[in-house]
Amino acid sequence: MALPTTDTIVTYPDGDVSSTGVVVHVEPVADGRSAVLLDTTACHPVDTAWPDQPADRGTLITAQGPLTIVDAVTGGVHDGDLHLGADLPVRTGTEGWTFVVAHVVDGTAPDVGQEVRVEVDRDHRAALSAGHTACHLAALALDHALAGAWTKEAPTDALGNPAFDSLAIASSRIHAFGSADTYRIGRSMRRKGFPPTALGCPRVAPGSAASPRAAPTSPAAARTSGASPTSAGSRSRSRRVR
Ligand SMILES: [Zn+2]
Repeated sequence: MALPTTDTIVTYPDGDVSSTGVVVHVEPVADGRSAVLLDTTACHPVDTAWPDQPADRGTLITAQGPLTIVDAVTGGVHDGDLHLGADLPVRTGTEGWTFVVAHVVDGTAPDVGQEVRVEVDRDHRAALSAGHTACHLAALALDHALAGAWTKEAPTDALGNPAFDSLAIASSRIHAFGSADTYRIGRSMRRKGFPPTALGCPRVAPGSAASPRAAPTSPAAARTSGASPTSAGSRSRSRRVR
């Protein structure tokens, strides 16, 4: 079965939650499931290199009936091989690769050439979009709150504050109406002019005798953020500095 030579056209950045596409390849994967590649999809896959926003949930509507999309992953074709999800060794956009969205389904996969429909779970998408927006807003707020701590000039964020978030972030996991972000403040952050002590200061009450263990010298810190269901928005680009 020939592998695609053009990238999957993805329409989720425009807010699309349904799409019609043609099956271009079906790849058997673990547990008797199939990875279905389409020429076009509204389905947001998890990004292997920066898996912040989880995959959409949804349904693949085929001529044989509906199939639940149990996962959606990014794939890449190179030298006649298809690498899916965790097996994709390069970032999307790497020269010489074709990047695809793989819809993982249970049951009988549709044939290549068949036109199928993708219907994304709208409520789930909206909840993740809200979480993603909250994540970016909280990052800007964090950069602002820590702006005074820097001892050297640093790259700045969209609001002109030193970009603590993008410089120190280790991982970001978006969930419904929120996200959990982990930062690493090690030697490289100190070299850039961010003293780790700056993070803990607000927690130490004036005049209190903080023990050394409670002192703000931890190399990692975590932030969680949330949004109300009414603040739904859509962000589909990673904020990671590349
Ligand atoms: Zn983002």
